[in-house]
Amino acid sequence: MNAVFPGSFDPITSGHMDVLTRAAKIFDHVTVTVMHNARKQGRHLFTLEERMDILRGATAHLPNVRVDTFGGLLVDYMARQEPGSVILRGLRAVSDYEYELQIAHLNRQIGDAETVFIMAATRWSFVSSSMVREIASYGGDVSEMVPRASAAALRRKHADVYAEREAEKAEQRQAQQEQPGR
Ligand code: ADP
Repeated sequence: MNAVFPGSFDPITSGHMDVLTRAAKIFDHVTVTVMHNARKQGRHLFTLEERMDILRGATAHLPNVRVDTFGGLLVDYMARQEPGSVILRGLRAVSDYEYELQIAHLNRQIGDAETVFIMAATRWSFVSSSMVREIASYGGDVSEMVPRASAAALRRKHADVYAEREAEKAEQRQAQQEQPGR
C-alpha cells in the first residue's frame, strides 16, 4: 500500500521526519508531495525547488520514499496514484485534530480519499516549520529541530541576509568617511 504525505514543508522538520520514518516502515512506498499554489508562492521562505531539494537530501536514506510536487486539489492528485493509496498526515496535539478532521472528511467526500494519521514522538510536538523559520531568522540554533538538509538551507538563507546587512553597514561607513564634516 502507498501513502502520500502532502504539505508545505517550508522546510521539513524533525517532526515531519519522524512521521515519515514511521510511515516508511508501514507502507510499501511513501511519496512526500510539496503542495504548491501559485497565489501563495511569495508566502514561503523557500521556493518550491528549494523545498524539494531539501526534502530529497533529508530523505535520501529512505529507499521507499520519493519526493514530488503538485499544484491543485489533493484529491485530483490522489486520483492519479495507484488504487488504494492513502493520504498521510501527522498529528501533534489536539490543536491539529479539528483542522485535520475537517480536511480528512472533505477529502473523503469530494474525492473518496482516505486519510491515515501518524503521531510523531512527543519530543517533536512543539516543533513546526513556522517556529523553526522564526528562530532561524534571528540566528537561533534549530539543529535539533530539523534534519541536516533543512539546517544547512536555513543557514544559507539567512547568511545572505547577514551579508546584505554587512554590506549596507560598510556603505554607511564609507559615506561617513567621504563626508568628514558631518
Ligand atoms: P500544511 O501546510 O499542509 O499543514 P506542513 O508542511 O506544515 O503542511 O505539515 C504537513 C503535515 O505534517 C501536517 O499533517 C502536519 O500536521 C504535520 N506536522 C507538522 N509538524 C509536525 C510535527 N512536529 N509532528 C507531527 N506532525 C507534524
